[in-house]
Amino acid sequence: MDDLDLVVRGGTLVDGTGSPARRGDLGVRDGRIVGVGEVRAGARRTLDAEGLVVAPGFVDVHTHYDAQVFWDRWLTISPWHGVTSVVMGNCGFGIAPTRPEHRDLVLRTLESVEGMSLEALRAGVGSDWPFETFGEFLDAIERRGTAINVGALVGHTPVRLYVMGEEATEREATAAEVEAMRGLVADALAAGALGFATSKSPTHVGWGGRPVPSRAAALSEIEGLAGCLGDAGFGVMQATLGPGLFLDEFAAIQRRTGRPISWTALLAGMLGPDGHRSVLEQSARMQADGVRVIPQVSCRPLMIEFQMKAPFPLESMALFRPVSAADFEGRKRIYADLEFRRAFRDKTDGGPLGVRFDGMEIGGHAPDPSLDGRRVGDVARERGIHPADLVLDLSLANGLETRFRMAVLNTDEAAVAELLSHPATMLGLSDAGAHASQLCDACAPTELLGHWVREKGVLTLEEGVRRLTSEPAEVFGVRDRGRLAVGLAADLTIFDPTTVDCLSLRRVRDFPAGADRLVSDARGVRAVVVNGVVIREDGVDALPADGPLPGRVLRGGVGGATAK
Ligand SMILES: [Zn+2]
Repeated sequence: MDDLDLVVRGGTLVDGTGSPARRGDLGVRDGRIVGVGEVRAGARRTLDAEGLVVAPGFVDVHTHYDAQVFWDRWLTISPWHGVTSVVMGNCGFGIAPTRPEHRDLVLRTLESVEGMSLEALRAGVGSDWPFETFGEFLDAIERRGTAINVGALVGHTPVRLYVMGEEATEREATAAEVEAMRGLVADALAAGALGFATSKSPTHVGWGGRPVPSRAAALSEIEGLAGCLGDAGFGVMQATLGPGLFLDEFAAIQRRTGRPISWTALLAGMLGPDGHRSVLEQSARMQADGVRVIPQVSCRPLMIEFQMKAPFPLESMALFRPVSAADFEGRKRIYADLEFRRAFRDKTDGGPLGVRFDGMEIGGHAPDPSLDGRRVGDVARERGIHPADLVLDLSLANGLETRFRMAVLNTDEAAVAELLSHPATMLGLSDAGAHASQLCDACAPTELLGHWVREKGVLTLEEGVRRLTSEPAEVFGVRDRGRLAVGLAADLTIFDPTTVDCLSLRRVRDFPAGADRLVSDARGVRAVVVNGVVIREDGVDALPADGPLPGRVLRGGVGGATAK
């Protein structure tokens, strides 16, 4: 008799805790794991996992799918790379609670701060939002359904806008306003928020070039809102660091609330060549004292995209001073000037800038789309010219519109290896759903397994899987997922450890209003299972796009985030 819904036979079980891999089967019934090791019972569906790793589904705690979830129930491309649970609302940029009159300001904030297309956002979310409160937001997502599980942090930015209106970007809040915000955060936690998120980062600029609302908050306001987590007795605080909000402040808030803080992000090169080390040491010391302040790290370089019509990553060079001073036509004249070109070649010949320049990706060259995603150094060598000349030639042939992606941080592989393997850190910052037309790091899980586990051996397979599963689930209070254990939800990612990887970025036009974005395909991901249902097989969706989907809304609570 076929007792089980699904059995996965003969795989290498990597259970997510970091324990050694072992060969075995895994049985699933009613969306839960009912057997791990030897499973004798038959099942309606059998997956042969010979030679493959069977791991818990990956948990991505740093995404920005808050708007995308309303037009893309699959939350692509996360499930392509084995992700079965995501957390959104990061950096405080949620979209609930929102009053009807503030909808456009919220979308314009996302447009500005997360590089999302405003047309896509407007077309995708529609004008008649199915929610005002945070609870209604979660309910609306649940009604529509999702392929993977979704949890959300309540964001400081919408909460502040809800209470203070447009003044939210301009001034500190009054005591009464902070009290009103505390009420909204408490309501959101009661409705199922996994925690509270904020940002003080100077790079977070919202509508009309103004700072995002959370940046105008006094520290006492952030402490007050974080205090709701302490009062509730559950939930995580996620924060992007900035002036007046770093390790000392995090430690004080953590001590007072008793809740973990997961901050964004500790990147190699951020505080000088070895600057990451002192932060690692301080974090380890704090954690040894029981202060759970945990830096998020990333396994991919931080890229920025630019065009030679506004070459901001190059403008710190003296050579570019006349460029900065010139208008558009003046810039074209300078880029064509042989003297300027000679000096530019010298500057980009070897050295750190030369390496960055050589590895820079061409991110959109309308006259020749086949260059999309290719490296400047490779194309320059094919054409027998210097990379600096290639960049200038392509730009001049395209009205300075050609886009280039340059890695600016997290490029030193030895330093990144230290960050990835340090016990005080956790993985984060995939930023999935954000910056969609400029970058794509949602593929970080397969990059971790392909590059950092298999090719470089920086992490063991067991440790790599732990970093992608039980660790983020535990910090974010998702207690019934992230491990292969009887009784837990049957979220599984089955992959080939000898081939798993992410492929280079390609541009597609599948967003609302014809907007484009970058995606990365996965290699070696055999199957993805969410709550016992196979949603992907061999790189293809295994369910009809418009039918019922198995993902759940992950709701926080004293008992841990469990599906309702
Ligand atoms: Zn973010």
